[in-house]
Amino acid sequence: MSRGPRLVLLGKQGAGKGTQAERLAERYAIGHLSTGAILRTLRDGSSVAAEARRFMEAGELVPDGLVLQIVEERFAADDLLYSGFVLDGFPRTRNQAEALDVILAAHPLDVVIDLSVPTAIVLDRIAGRRVCLECGTNYHVNQPPASDWTCDRCGGRVVQRDDDTEVAVLRRLELYEQETEPLLDFYRDAGLLVTVDGIGTGDEVFRRLVQVIDGHLAPSS
Ligand code: AMP
Repeated sequence: MSRGPRLVLLGKQGAGKGTQAERLAERYAIGHLSTGAILRTLRDGSSVAAEARRFMEAGELVPDGLVLQIVEERFAADDLLYSGFVLDGFPRTRNQAEALDVILAAHPLDVVIDLSVPTAIVLDRIAGRRVCLECGTNYHVNQPPASDWTCDRCGGRVVQRDDDTEVAVLRRLELYEQETEPLLDFYRDAGLLVTVDGIGTGDEVFRRLVQVIDGHLAPSS
């Protein structure tokens, strides 16, 4: 197959979606669309950006209207339907999943991966997580950038996320259970869901993901 894979990564916050999505985008030369990363870099001072930030800092979901606008704009601007993509942090609600089906229309997903990690482990990971304010690259206190919290990739400042406070994190996990976990059945019923164990080193998890994706891109597909 010449086109790139069309992928969705589902999983709790801290499951490793962002890090693995970046690596998958590089490996398959496909677009990486993280709604969280795009929302974090919205800083045009508009009321929309300020409103989105209020939801994010409280650990609430940003309203579907704004999220869908971002996703639709990205699909319209980039050649993602043809080049392939990995979606990270989207869809998060049934409404978003249905809207995604409409956007994709004749270009259906190849596979939806549930990156599975127990809550106790994600809580531990989130406590040490750091992110570049400019480009969204993820780091961890145990694997910091080479020089003094400056991003290796773009030179941006690397900080703890505003929404990685204990209250916001617990709220996001609750919302994941209520709003996003039901999508596992949605995609299982569509015959697209594969669960991948997200415990282990980044390299181990990456190898598992590649194995699953390559299996779905076999020549017959
Ligand atoms: P993430 O980087 O994926 O953990 O997203 C950070 C925050 O951005 C979330 O807690 C939400 O407030 C918001 N967000 C990101 N993606 C979505 C989405 N698909 N729907 C609603 N809110 C989102």
